[in-house]
Amino acid sequence: MMMKMVDEKRLSDYKKNKLFLSLFKGLKNVYGTYSTKSGKHWQIKGMVIEKIIYNHLIGKQPYGFYPLINDKTSVGIADFDDHNPLPAIAFIKRAAHYGLNAYLEKSKSKGYHVWLFFSEEGVSARKLRIVMKYILDEIELPNTEIFPKQDSINQNNSYGNFINAPLFGKLVPEGKTVFIHADNSLKPYPDQWEFIETIVRNSEDILDSIIDNNITDVIKKNRNTLPKNTTINSSQYGLPLCIKNILCQGVSFDQRVACFRIAVNLKRVGLPEEFSVEVLNNWRVKNKPINNKRIITQREIKNQVGWAYKKNYNGIGCEEPIINSFCNSKCKLRQKNNNMR
Ligand code: SF4
Repeated sequence: MMMKMVDEKRLSDYKKNKLFLSLFKGLKNVYGTYSTKSGKHWQIKGMVIEKIIYNHLIGKQPYGFYPLINDKTSVGIADFDDHNPLPAIAFIKRAAHYGLNAYLEKSKSKGYHVWLFFSEEGVSARKLRIVMKYILDEIELPNTEIFPKQDSINQNNSYGNFINAPLFGKLVPEGKTVFIHADNSLKPYPDQWEFIETIVRNSEDILDSIIDNNITDVIKKNRNTLPKNTTINSSQYGLPLCIKNILCQGVSFDQRVACFRIAVNLKRVGLPEEFSVEVLNNWRVKNKPINNKRIITQREIKNQVGWAYKKNYNGIGCEEPIINSFCNSKCKLRQKNNNMR
């Protein structure tokens, strides 16, 4: 079947415009575009009005949006800059394994975009990035670019980075910027509007459970080789959310402090010292130290764990900047402390 073109009648349909903006939601006062001749990208400071979307959909001027709104986002995109569609398909399959719906778009150039959609109110960009990086690690493509590129907007990064929206009218007839089947056929959906109406938004709960479970897996993996009489409390009263996230994501500074505090917490949930060393040796390679610092060594890990286990340390470490930077509003301890204030 011939792919239906995006026609003017449909573009004038208010509902379609609304649907487009609700799915490809970004900052309202800035957007991006590129030259179809030179490929050069640039930013435009101005309101995202209906005309901008109209011009995008009819192929006059491409529209790119900035998906990061404070620390939330409604979309996550993995950008596979490769002729080979298999890595993008592998990502979609792995996401489906965790219950995440992900969709494949043929990008404007050689590669593919994988899109994950969430509620219009948005979800934590940080959590989404953790999960997307985790899946990329699992499919052994950790360097794939993801959007949003930051966890939140701050002074150094006032807008984040924009991503080109799908359905740029000029390229749609060429089978580019369209959603396609994530199978061997790679066929574009014949009616792109009909397709995007069926898109299922994911929930933030899935991100929480992926983050929780993969950390618990670290402990479970070790549990199989633990001494018979060891009991591990890895329930909600076990590892705090900050420690779980640090274990999952790695850190970029204060590696030794983080290592020590993780070890103290692993001791608190009952993991014997030698297994904590193993968990932390797995963790160390996730660290991405800034300022050209090197990754913590195995010897340093052994020392930190040794101190954590030999002395009578029990504190979670909430006051340490590296631990605090992973603090989570859902933590029972934090809620309890807030209530006491
Ligand atoms: S209050 Fe924050 S830093 Fe302290 S244990 Fe909970 S999540 Fe971690």
